[in-house]
Amino acid sequence: MRYSQDLIEEIRTQNDIVEVIGDFMPLTRKGGSYFGLCPFHNENTPSFSVSADKQFYYCFGCGAAGNVYSFVMQTKNCDFLEAVKILADRAGILLPEPEQSKEEKEEEKRRQILFDMHKVAGRYYYECLHENIGEKALYYLNGRGVLPNIQKKFGIGFAPDLRDSLYKHLLEKGYNVSDMLKSGLVIENKNSQGYHDRFFNRLMFPIIDVSGRIIGFGGRVMGSGEPKYLNSPETMIFNKSRNLYGLNFAKNTRRREIILVEGYMDMISIYQAGFHNVCASLGTAFNNDHARVLKKYVDDVILLYDSDTAGTNAALRAIPVLVDNGFNVKVLQVPDGKDPDEFIKHNGSMEFSKLLVNAVSHISFQIECKRKNYNLNNPEHKVKFTVEAAKILASLSSDIERDVYIKEVSDETGISESSIKKEISKLANIAQTNFVKEAEKKRKRIYNNQISNIPVKAKGVMEAQRELLAALSSNINVYNIVKNYIKPSQFVTDVYCKAASIIYDINEKGGRVFPAEIVNHFESVEEQKLVTEIFAVTFNYDKESELEKALNENIKLIKRTLLDQRTASVDNVEDIKKIVEEKINIDKLYIKITNG
Ligand SMILES: [Zn+2]
Repeated sequence: MRYSQDLIEEIRTQNDIVEVIGDFMPLTRKGGSYFGLCPFHNENTPSFSVSADKQFYYCFGCGAAGNVYSFVMQTKNCDFLEAVKILADRAGILLPEPEQSKEEKEEEKRRQILFDMHKVAGRYYYECLHENIGEKALYYLNGRGVLPNIQKKFGIGFAPDLRDSLYKHLLEKGYNVSDMLKSGLVIENKNSQGYHDRFFNRLMFPIIDVSGRIIGFGGRVMGSGEPKYLNSPETMIFNKSRNLYGLNFAKNTRRREIILVEGYMDMISIYQAGFHNVCASLGTAFNNDHARVLKKYVDDVILLYDSDTAGTNAALRAIPVLVDNGFNVKVLQVPDGKDPDEFIKHNGSMEFSKLLVNAVSHISFQIECKRKNYNLNNPEHKVKFTVEAAKILASLSSDIERDVYIKEVSDETGISESSIKKEISKLANIAQTNFVKEAEKKRKRIYNNQISNIPVKAKGVMEAQRELLAALSSNINVYNIVKNYIKPSQFVTDVYCKAASIIYDINEKGGRVFPAEIVNHFESVEEQKLVTEIFAVTFNYDKESELEKALNENIKLIKRTLLDQRTASVDNVEDIKKIVEEKINIDKLYIKITNG
């Protein structure tokens, strides 16, 4: 789905970047630019700059860069389309229905078939549960204490112990085999003859997206088969990392807080106990995609994983993901190693609500987990534990919060608060240095991905392309000469090929190249950053002859790199001869820009 470039540009111009970023964080004016503490990396002195003139931001510390859309995408964890919506809303611009290409319409149709098929399958499984064939399964479900109204609400069903009953049912309903295979509900037999169901002899839990559509199933085996839980595979409509079980209900509770659990049954039994703000990750570790989805609805998370070693480790892995995505995180562990479902069954919902109140901050939880490894009566252990605790505390950004925990650790170990503080500030300095190193590595990695096919002078050719594009954007005389020597398709990275064709196009139409507008055409933060970099650094040449020399060097480097790329795939003498000829031509090339 796409909006027209004109509209995207109008929305951008109606949202002044200084105002939008100024609403988000304090900015101080210095000359033509505004500066602030970078929201994308930890720093004490401002290296994040916002240009009112060019309408983009650029961080000299971590390299973050982009226009107002990039900023919204990065701070709200959303995609380009959502950023367009947010900023249209901010400017009071009404959005039309987005335009769809032919391919998009076709894909939408395919997706719709899969949604319909899942609905049919869901109904089929539900009916099976309530017929004779599902008697045992229903008996089991009732035995687990799931009440009939909840069974219905969650659409729990049963896949009979036959190998192809759903397949036959879907055939009857008029679905074709190719769509069935795409849905993951039906699988081709090993001998390539005939088809069978993915799920059989399983209690079926429909997985429903936030729009209320069934997108997959989780199946719990009846009896002792393996695996105990089986999920739908990833399909056109089902992405395990972007969906959370039960979020379709939890999102309506309008609570700031959500309880995050590991399994279907935990989720359902907490819901049944009256706590509707609960959801579960779908058999995968909680990751950044999950966090971004959740962030749309809540700010606070209570992690309620099993209290065994596996559950504790899963919680310890989920904490940094949640914290990095800006959640306030508390952790709750059910006593006596029970899982939440068991606890509620044995103790009732009143006791469970008391437990919830006692959820501890993730810092306390992490420190507690460390403490278990040490005997605090042993002086050596005491020191080791304090160092581990300091590491955790160094990650806290609030000084007040940190002081509270420092006091706790100090009381417990008898090590003075000031010594612990010293240890923390030592670690914080290391963390800062590591961050800068990491940011640098990350930047290099992005470049290298962009230029994976380019064998030599990788970084040089990126700079050459940026410098050339900057000159073509700002100097129409240069453009009119240079366009005869290099075409947009001759730039060596995809992003810069596309940027070049946009810039050439604007110049041909007699328009003015406006940096933030060029960025509009790119929809990922990484691409937006690369394009912003074209304009972020201004190249100053005192004399035209210096500019001429630099341009020639840049164009030659780009052309040679492209030729090197081609050389790698040449396999006949004729082509080699041609390449040798072209090489000689490049060497001889000299483009005159000055009149002198
Ligand atoms: Zn930064």
